[in-house]
Amino acid sequence: MTVAMILAGKSRDVITTQPHRTLQEAAALLAEKGIGAALVADGAGAVVGIISERDVVRAIGRHGGAVLNDPVSKHMTSKVVTTEPGEAVDHVMDMMTSGRFRHVPVMENNRLVGVVSIGDVVKFRLDSIEWEYRAMRDYIATA
Ligand code: AMP
Repeated sequence: MTVAMILAGKSRDVITTQPHRTLQEAAALLAEKGIGAALVADGAGAVVGIISERDVVRAIGRHGGAVLNDPVSKHMTSKVVTTEPGEAVDHVMDMMTSGRFRHVPVMENNRLVGVVSIGDVVKFRLDSIEWEYRAMRDYIATA
């Protein structure tokens, strides 16, 4: 059960923003795309951070609405934890739990090839459990 199996079932489009964009623009992007986090990429396309809805809420909660004019770079997380297509899904779940985040970018040969969210992981696990249940039921019924 690898990350590649999750990516196969979803769009490979990765929504990105840039460090100089305002928090307002980032929030609008998250709302428009219906996502919880966007990768932050520099002009050359390199990942320099991640900005999630939690960062936006935390900034507003601590400093007030004026932070919406701040650049994304001021409130993003710079040290991004990533994974690879061959990584086990269970390991990604552990990463999310211990790191207390819900989004993990997937890198392949230094290239961003997708993002796995906690929603993707939960759906994948539920589908797997459902599949195992049906297989077991069919096995018992035909034994
Ligand atoms: P989330 O639960 O993904 O909305 O994010 C919670 C916090 O973790 C926010 O401060 C994010 O910027 C940060 N974060 C989200 N994903 C990652 C990641 N893959 N690596 C490092 N930090 C992250």
